[in-house]
Amino acid sequence: MIRLTTCLFLFLFPLFVNGQEISVRIFSKTKPSTFVFTPLDGAYKIITQNGDNIIVKQGETVVFSKYENRVLFRTLAGVKGLTDTVRVIPLKGENTFKIRQPANGELPKTLCGKVKVYIFPGSLMILNIVDIEAYLPGAVRAEAGRKGPLEYFRTQAIIARTYVYRHLNRHILDGYNMCDDVHCQVYSGLITEQPIIEACKSTAGMVLVDSDTALIISAFHANCGGETASSRDVWVMAEPYLIAVKDTFCTKYKPTLWQRKITLGDWKKFLISKGITVKDTLSMIPVTSGKTVRVHDYLILGIQVPASEIRNYFSLKSTFFTITKDDSNIIFTGRGYGHGVGLCQDGAMAMALEGMSYKDITRFYYPGTFITSIKNAHAPAMP
Ligand SMILES: [Zn+2]
Ligand SMILES: [Zn+2]
Repeated sequence: MIRLTTCLFLFLFPLFVNGQEISVRIFSKTKPSTFVFTPLDGAYKIITQNGDNIIVKQGETVVFSKYENRVLFRTLAGVKGLTDTVRVIPLKGENTFKIRQPANGELPKTLCGKVKVYIFPGSLMILNIVDIEAYLPGAVRAEAGRKGPLEYFRTQAIIARTYVYRHLNRHILDGYNMCDDVHCQVYSGLITEQPIIEACKSTAGMVLVDSDTALIISAFHANCGGETASSRDVWVMAEPYLIAVKDTFCTKYKPTLWQRKITLGDWKKFLISKGITVKDTLSMIPVTSGKTVRVHDYLILGIQVPASEIRNYFSLKSTFFTITKDDSNIIFTGRGYGHGVGLCQDGAMAMALEGMSYKDITRFYYPGTFITSIKNAHAPAMP
């Protein structure tokens, strides 16, 4: 009974450790059948599933390819192997290697850690098994850009780390933790930008939790336009820390106004796709205050149409807009960029430039949350 209770507890609240390893699928967008591996420093051991192994030294090249549903690897010296699964292990932990695919334009990556390769329907499954802290700087650069003050990157490092630990099971049914594309977090490999590396290092193991010490949904977007959106309005999922916050920081530094015109014909097609029976042009326009305020739903001929659905249909820059018309067009006048939920990146950048800390910034955009060590956090029971 005690064991059952323990198992149930671990299932509901998996425990985390600082510096845990994750498996990241590399080239998950292009799914190559061939790739080239080159040690940049130090040597690597290539091990087949039978335990046969070879050593590859710095600068040597190994080509891995899919061959009759098995993995074939060849060195330039002519050493070959054919196996179902192959592992590539560094002889020293800090070694790095380059991985590239000759068949298409996806950029090469510099990585560290281990590699595991096997056949996945139609292509090679290339997994990089890497310490989360070594993975983070590359993920932060992809999500947060290359330039900014240290406190901005510290904030982004904590957000990215929280995201990784909360989504460790995202691809678990496929046999790995995360992909390297926008579906999870874009991961271009190891980076050289020192402020980002320093930001990750100085916040190592820190994550954002709610009052129950559960990892939060660390949502963020480019620019809120002066007011963030609540998750309930955008995703129909209320979280006490993803609520609307008035933001005077992001609007100080960047113009965030945008306008978009579409024809009345296109608007009519959209309304019909929502099951709205259009009578005349005037009735197609929702009555609004005329001011640019966040509106969750527009009432059009008695039917509520969420702003997020209008945004998605017309690829608008944000859900923060008002609707007017001229003789032949519908005009959206809006503010900000992105879904508007959680942290506003331009606002966080402005706060950091004004001398505020990552604690001030996360408290502002995720009210009621705390920063703690991953050892004290747990995943929510129903992520
Ligand atoms: Zn993914
Ligand atoms: Zn903002």
